[in-house]
Amino acid sequence: MQPKQSIVNLPVYQPGKPIEEVKRELGLTEVIKLASNENPFGSSDRAKAAIQDELANISIYPDSFSTTLTGLVADYLQVERNQIIFGAGSDEVILMLARAYLSPGDETIMADETFSQYKHNVVIEGAATVEVPLKNGTHDLPAMLAKITDRTKIIWICNPNNPTGTIVREDELADFVRQVPKNIIIALDEAYYEYVTDADYPNSLALLREHQNIIVLRTFSKIYGLASLRIGYGVAHADLIRHVNQVREPFNTTRFAQAAAAASITDLDFLNSCRQRNAEGRRYVCGQLARMGLSYFEAHGNFVMFDTKLPSQQVFDGLLRKGIISRARWAHYPTYIRITVGSQEQNESFIHALEEVLQEAAVRG
Ligand SMILES: *Cc1c(COP(=O)(O)O)cnc(C)c1O
Repeated sequence: MQPKQSIVNLPVYQPGKPIEEVKRELGLTEVIKLASNENPFGSSDRAKAAIQDELANISIYPDSFSTTLTGLVADYLQVERNQIIFGAGSDEVILMLARAYLSPGDETIMADETFSQYKHNVVIEGAATVEVPLKNGTHDLPAMLAKITDRTKIIWICNPNNPTGTIVREDELADFVRQVPKNIIIALDEAYYEYVTDADYPNSLALLREHQNIIVLRTFSKIYGLASLRIGYGVAHADLIRHVNQVREPFNTTRFAQAAAAASITDLDFLNSCRQRNAEGRRYVCGQLARMGLSYFEAHGNFVMFDTKLPSQQVFDGLLRKGIISRARWAHYPTYIRITVGSQEQNESFIHALEEVLQEAAVRG
């Protein structure tokens, strides 16, 4: 048996290490996972109540069109109902976009480093990835523009960028969008949208009203704290959404995910509290890194990527032995670590552990 050619060299996704596994392997009782940008404050109580209510319907297929949720999100974003599509996480919206629009011979442009799922899905469809190095950790939009050819189908902009946390600003994005030919899709991945507090962050939905080739990707996995339920969405012009809908599995999101997302979208108190606590935690972590003389990329999401000035695997292992799961191993950033901003207590534990790890390394020379 031979799989299709495009996946022969495709790696299996390596997720952040699970807490239970680390406890078992290292004999630790306390482990803090700061590896996957999950919400340290959990999720809205309304979401949990909605799931309880939905338990009675566990044997019934979910609503294929997520009708109730679509209405709520459309009203929340002030777009039409036919401009939204839901996926099993925005990961699945990325998959559907690639499936609907990419064929062998097509090209797509993305940053290097950026979120791994663009390349993953592009490769599966047999299309080519054109990767443009980040400039100071930020998307280099002029360099990306210069890579456009007759074959370009999709340009991926991760904003804030995962793993660096930097943003593309309103002016430069608007300028970029004006220069991209109308037949090329611009996928704006805003998984961390709700965490951004910078006034120059683009209003992508306003851009979308003017440009029919934009799709905005958002998720309930991050600030809404529903990562385990797998639900995210895309917002775009109705024609684009219709094409993505054509490749969607009939029951791609569950009843529990739809109900919890519907309950969460209206809980602005939870949202605002998480945004504020994250901004405070982000400021604390960055301040501590600066105190330790470590440089970091300007952080706009719920994570910070910083330079340990040591091989990142060494620091990763050191932190792990102290019960902190971080993220490392980016090809272009061999000395960098990415950590999620946690609760204040978690952030303090992380900083304490990091100081110890770096001191131990200094002693050993
Ligand atoms: C987490 C993340 C996603 C998607 O997460 P889902 O759980 O699939 O919704 C998408 N893009 C980026 C950049 C992310 O970090």
